[in-house]
Amino acid sequence: MFYYIFSDLNEHSILDNLKSRYGRGLIYTYTGSILVAVNPYKMFNIYGLDMVKRYEGKPLGELPPHLFAIGSVSYTKMIKDNENQVLIISGESGAGKTESTKLVMQYLAAVNRSGNNLITEQILEANPLLESFGNAKTIRNDNSSRFGKYIEVFFKNGAIVGAKTAEYLLEKSRIVTQAPEERNYHVFYEMLEELSDEQKAKYGLQTAPKYFYLNQGGSALIRGRDDADNYRKLTAAMDILNFERQEQETIVKILASVLHIGNVYFKVVQENNHDRAELGSDAEIKWVAHLLDLSEDWLKQALTSKVTEARGDRFYTPYNLDQALDARDAVAKALYCRMFSWLVERINMIICRAEREKSTSLAVLDIFGFEDFHFNSFEQLCINYANETLQFFFNQHIFRLEQKEYSKEKIRWEHIEFKDNQPTIDLVATKPAGILHILDDESNFPQATDNSFLEKCHFHHSGNELYDKPRMSDPEFYVVHYAGKIKYNVQHFLEKNKDTLRSDVIELMCESKNQILSQMFKDHRDRLITKTLSKTTGRYVTVKPRTTTVAASFNESLLSLIDTMSRCNPFFVRCIKPNAQKAPMTFEDIVVLDQLRYTGMLETIRIRKMGYPVRIKFPHFIERYRCLMKGEPIRSNQVPWDVCKVILQSQGPEFKDEYQIGATKVFMKEAFESRLDTAAGAI
Ligand code: ATP
Ligand code: MG
Repeated sequence: MFYYIFSDLNEHSILDNLKSRYGRGLIYTYTGSILVAVNPYKMFNIYGLDMVKRYEGKPLGELPPHLFAIGSVSYTKMIKDNENQVLIISGESGAGKTESTKLVMQYLAAVNRSGNNLITEQILEANPLLESFGNAKTIRNDNSSRFGKYIEVFFKNGAIVGAKTAEYLLEKSRIVTQAPEERNYHVFYEMLEELSDEQKAKYGLQTAPKYFYLNQGGSALIRGRDDADNYRKLTAAMDILNFERQEQETIVKILASVLHIGNVYFKVVQENNHDRAELGSDAEIKWVAHLLDLSEDWLKQALTSKVTEARGDRFYTPYNLDQALDARDAVAKALYCRMFSWLVERINMIICRAEREKSTSLAVLDIFGFEDFHFNSFEQLCINYANETLQFFFNQHIFRLEQKEYSKEKIRWEHIEFKDNQPTIDLVATKPAGILHILDDESNFPQATDNSFLEKCHFHHSGNELYDKPRMSDPEFYVVHYAGKIKYNVQHFLEKNKDTLRSDVIELMCESKNQILSQMFKDHRDRLITKTLSKTTGRYVTVKPRTTTVAASFNESLLSLIDTMSRCNPFFVRCIKPNAQKAPMTFEDIVVLDQLRYTGMLETIRIRKMGYPVRIKFPHFIERYRCLMKGEPIRSNQVPWDVCKVILQSQGPEFKDEYQIGATKVFMKEAFESRLDTAAGAI
């Protein structure tokens, strides 16, 4: 057995080891069962069927480190122990999580030779579809995931029977604004590149630079990315996933409508000393009304005035310019976000067939990586908080539980300090004064503003060393995350947090004559509204639940994800980004070292080396290795502890550091377990 693990615990030797391996094209390294993957930014020919076959069924460490080895071990363990598995792939934006996820899925599909091929193909094809709609170019990554996903693949008798994808928090603001050098979601550019002139004319479409929602980043093309070809792949994927013609058509109509809506502009009219926004031109509205089969008047009304109902009468309060622009963006965001969730639901309907009972699952978690931009907003706080939670999960698994077990079993153990990030999680999310809770409270308070929110954060957290105020009176706060200190700008925090789909927009879309579109929104509305039978009248009354905020629902889904994962056996893949320029095979020491430090890799390696990964309960241990007592009987006054000791000592005093006897279990290094097995086998 050979392990590519770090042999020296010094920080620099670990870095040198990774660097020299990387220089030789070896991008994978193990530390125990954790796989470290350094992004090569260049495809190696190491993911073919030959490799799948090579790794299939092999234990970890028998062959050189590889993602397929992790795939193989988790698959084998799932079948052998009948236990659900999860591969947690982490790393900052651009480190290679999504590529790794795809490779794991391909591995699973390839070993699934006896399974249902159509389902397997459909599972794989869901990926290009979700990437077109959920990934975009950022300055960190040309194909950055702007949503989190948790894919569970279900197996029965070792064969794939289905899969289910859960999506987390698609970045909404990108649909209507992009930072310099960034793009909106890929699908828009792909569609505009590939549609023929005739098709474009049918939807009133032009080229990407003509659209306000696409041209703000000033970066329509991505080097090395063929948008037109990706659109062909996307439509092929939809065909394989049984999307009907009309569904595909509706998707294009929605995409085109979002672009048209973005080009709607307003004039300001003075009326009774108030500014009122009026539509600047009808052309875009006409297109949207036509494409979405909506009443043009209703659409105009929704963009220029707020409707309130009192005692059966409707009142229209005209919007000022800002309100009208918000309403316009709200329609675009609602359309796109609802379509995205619908796509995921639609895919799940196809690939998540029955038969889930009695099946076991192997899940892969691929979320948006930790990010630090020039301007960090509410989205970054959520993304970074999600990564913080994952780091906590990792620490919990590797350090806390491990050391707790040693102390419970009274094992001699030198405590290893690790960077516990619980205090940051408390600062961001714990009740009652966590930043996201303050935000939620403020979001339910009509007079609150971004500034009053900021003031409250300063008030509660100024004394916290993980929190900082800006030097000037800028609308900002700092949080010290496990991966670095980040400055957040509070502008629009309140509005973004309240920005669950607006009910006026939902109602409008439910009125569409396009069945697919209206159903999309009706399903959503029905889920929001809980119907209860009124006891007094016997009639159904609709009860609107308290509208949840984005932060609250995100937090809830994150906690439920952690709960699901903690009931699986985890494997960790740590992706590392070797340079900030996305340059192939370029290893920058500082960039890598920083990531090794903040992810706690150094401590991880120490705990793995010092620890005892094999634990066996006394009765099981005695049963398994009794033969090593060479016929000596177990005396009646001998407690199990003594019996285990006799067995362990049979290998000679030179191995005394290889094991310890706890309160109920024997703890051993892996090599010592192999030694005992060999010795027992020889008798
Ligand atoms: P984000 O958090 O922004 O979604 P990510 O960790 O998912 O980032 P990826 O999109 O997987 O990052 O990787 C970024 C780019 O790095 C890929 O588009 C690809 O060019 C390259 N890359 C990543 N992993 C590999 C690999 N194993 N082999 C070759 N290239 C890779
Ligand atoms: Mg990604």
